[in-house]
Amino acid sequence: MVSPVMAPTISLSFQPLSLRLKHPFGTASGTSADSHNLLVKLHYKDWIGYGEASPVWYHAETIETASSLLAAWQSNEELLGHDPFAITAIEKRMNAVVSGHASVKAAVEMALHDLCGKILKVSVLKMLGLSGFTQPMTDFTIGIDSLAMIEQKTNEAIAAGFQVLKVKLGTAYDKEIIKSVRSVTALPLRVDANGAWTPKQAIAMAHLLAQENVQLIEQPLPKSATVDDFRFVKEHSPLPIFADESVSTSSDVARFANAVDGVVIKLAKTGGIAEAMRCIHTARAHGMQIMLGCMVESSLGISAALQLSSLVDYLDLDGALLLAQDPFYGSISCNQGRLTFGDGVGLGACLHAGSASP
Ligand code: MG
Repeated sequence: MVSPVMAPTISLSFQPLSLRLKHPFGTASGTSADSHNLLVKLHYKDWIGYGEASPVWYHAETIETASSLLAAWQSNEELLGHDPFAITAIEKRMNAVVSGHASVKAAVEMALHDLCGKILKVSVLKMLGLSGFTQPMTDFTIGIDSLAMIEQKTNEAIAAGFQVLKVKLGTAYDKEIIKSVRSVTALPLRVDANGAWTPKQAIAMAHLLAQENVQLIEQPLPKSATVDDFRFVKEHSPLPIFADESVSTSSDVARFANAVDGVVIKLAKTGGIAEAMRCIHTARAHGMQIMLGCMVESSLGISAALQLSSLVDYLDLDGALLLAQDPFYGSISCNQGRLTFGDGVGLGACLHAGSASP
């Protein structure tokens, strides 16, 4: 009697991925010197797909909740199943077992893309049909800091060749921050208030920033602000208003149509590449602009987001460029602010030896 051949299952392992920043990074939500991410590995036959989770409290995730969810999924064979190409089915199963936790879902989903690319021996970019474009420039973010450090960071960004900067605001000295940046450069700026302003403050700042070669304002109002609050600011702002923290998924994008000029899409909010694409298509259908953003992530997570760069207007994918040391290499490189892909299969990210402790 011939015994039945069992199809191989996809198994999951994960480990901490601690990232130290070159400079402490300040936003209106707080300052941090490092980021505690997780490296997710999906094992299938002889292949390993890599994914990165970057949980943060303001997305209702922590390193503890992310770790316990991944630990539960390690022993759930049915969740990942036997077919790494069943990405949409696996995404549906993850959404059915738990809501939220988008950074964990994004890690698993990008690892599936990496795995499939490695199996097919093609880059994820080719697999998605998105090759053939010149990658756009990314901006570089100047975090909240002392005015002297803001000038120093701005000078460093100029020396590195970045053509556009993003400035974090939302302090009691926002006008001074802009003055400090402008004392060293005339480069175009993007501004991110991370939800720190009232509608009245946002409109006043928009008028002031419109005189300072600023391209757009990101998340002027708190996440708790209503769609009508955003619409009010948009209608009275001389600059385009983008929603970041207020918009996670494609249904959020649809809700904010006509209330903002654009949306910031991040894999850590959408739960992966597939939902990020739905967000992009929804935004386009409503005539909205799109910025592709990131968390503080290694070049692994950044490379997964960069796959979608040809579909968006603005890139804010500097997460790995803020690090003192990147645990991954090979997937992307940055030259004078332009991000380019490596020539590997899948996401093409290789782990430096000893970078992530088991
Ligand atoms: Mg933002």
